[in-house]
Amino acid sequence: MARLPVVAIVGRPNVGKSTLFNRLVGKRVALVDDRPGVTRDRREGIATLVGADFTVIDTAGFETDDPQTLPGRMRAQTEAAVAQADAALFMIDSRAGITPLDEEIARWLRAADTPVIVVANKAEGRAGEAGIIEAMALGFGDPVPLSAEHGEGVVELFEALRPFIDVEIEDEGEEAEDGPLKLAIVGRPNAGKSTLVNRMLGEDRMITGPEAGITRDAIAIDWEWTPKEGEPRKVRLIDTAGLRKKAKVQDKLEKLSVADALNAIDFAEVVVLLLDATRGLEAQELRIADQVLQEGRALVIAINKWDVAEGGSALFNGIKAALDEGLAQVKGVPVLTVSAATGKGIDTLIQVAFETREAWSMRVSTGVLNRWFEAAVEKNPPPAPGGKRIKLRYMTQAKTRPPGFVLFGTRVDQLPVSYQRYLINGIRRDLGFGAVPVRLTLRAPK
Ligand code: GDP
Ligand code: GDP
Repeated sequence: MARLPVVAIVGRPNVGKSTLFNRLVGKRVALVDDRPGVTRDRREGIATLVGADFTVIDTAGFETDDPQTLPGRMRAQTEAAVAQADAALFMIDSRAGITPLDEEIARWLRAADTPVIVVANKAEGRAGEAGIIEAMALGFGDPVPLSAEHGEGVVELFEALRPFIDVEIEDEGEEAEDGPLKLAIVGRPNAGKSTLVNRMLGEDRMITGPEAGITRDAIAIDWEWTPKEGEPRKVRLIDTAGLRKKAKVQDKLEKLSVADALNAIDFAEVVVLLLDATRGLEAQELRIADQVLQEGRALVIAINKWDVAEGGSALFNGIKAALDEGLAQVKGVPVLTVSAATGKGIDTLIQVAFETREAWSMRVSTGVLNRWFEAAVEKNPPPAPGGKRIKLRYMTQAKTRPPGFVLFGTRVDQLPVSYQRYLINGIRRDLGFGAVPVRLTLRAPK
């Protein structure tokens, strides 16, 4: 197992180190025998903060020691803990302000290489404001106001620690946002996929695959799309065996191959489901759309052959309504009309695919998210099944591509699906994720 990041809590006696330690670690505490020469044990435990796990070291436990030897021991203890830590939380008591001992500890910490975050504890209410301002003078940047006892400021603490404890919070997409747009086009036979691909590529069709990780059944076609305005942008079209085979075998009876579509979906960021305007929407196409979203890919729907479609806006609205009903989990997937034969609407389709990827890759800060979250919960509080309250505490975005959120609270296992959907839909609508699939994980804090 990979080593967990280590965070040390340091500071003079009575500032609240153990209180924070207990809050972070709960019952999962281990007493660690210290090296010979350092008399006190120190406590270590696995902390969970907003979904991230790390080892936390508490250096408290000197209060009862002889005051004559206290500074020396504290120094040894602090330095030992900090030396093995990825980050140190330097805790001060914001009600008491900065004391000479705080200043001395600051000097020890400056000599170490470990990044230091000043935590101004006991900051509940307003009593700590002066102390927080004093703490800025320690020279470690803005202090994080916290109330270890009341559990306030935990999200801010997490935000401050996050650069140093980059665990579990991972982006699975290794590709930068300006990497090629990985696009797959799926749809039933005769929907016009080959025509669309040829129209998109024009003359410069260039097959670059097979790429590492791309199977023999799917190859990549790299090309550049030149928008009406702006720089050319790279697109990697995921071309499936089905698409290539098509040119040779005109098997009109061939079913829309789910396996083939899934194969392409695997490698794509954005999947275009191509419908045939002259045939409307079929159940199998809905299943594919649903599958794309379940796989966490961004979906765009294009109704092809619009040049020969009869019915105009009534047809369009009918298909859109059927989609909204069939894809109730993710309402509002973009639906466009195109003509692969004439080229109409194709630039818009690619443009929308890029925009959809942007939303799919987006990350909101924990601060913005939680301001939204508090308002959403206040507006519509969670139900109290059996008269017992579900207490929702905070949220964080743990993942992108697709966006994944973690919701912390007590009794969250009893949160109804309808309420989860309320939150997910709100995130999509209010925070700019649009119709990309958004995942929500529920967790009870330790
Ligand atoms: P340590 O010696 O640094 O480990 O400090 P402790 O965790 O033992 O806390 C010292 C005292 O401060 C205890 O009486 C705690 O209850 C109190 N305390 C800890 N955190 C807070 C807080 O956020 N607000 C207030 N008002 N008191 C706190
Ligand atoms: P695929 O099986 O999905 O790859 O579909 P094809 O690209 O082979 O197209 C099937 C048929 O639809 C062909 O006869 C195309 O000429 C025709 N077609 C494709 N796109 C359009 C379009 O936008 N308008 C019209 N009128 N016909 C189209």
